[in-house]
Amino acid sequence: MSQPASPQQRVDVETAVRNRSQYATALHRQDPDSDDVQPACPEADYREDAEWTDVPVAAYAGHYGMCGNPECFGGEWR
Ligand SMILES: [Zn+2]
Repeated sequence: MSQPASPQQRVDVETAVRNRSQYATALHRQDPDSDDVQPACPEADYREDAEWTDVPVAAYAGHYGMCGNPECFGGEWR
């Protein structure tokens, strides 16, 4: 079965990581190599003072975009 051409990103997790900042706009994938709550993508390095929290994707996906980095939910970033 071929993939339909769609901007929809594949989200295969139920829990994502969110920056507590009010300016945060994206949900990230939890870093599988870390015991801390932090994104898998370099965003964690850019924002060393950020506070990360894990959230249910279903509750936040309507308000936040999914991070487009390949480590997270990347793919067709618009
Ligand atoms: Zn990310």
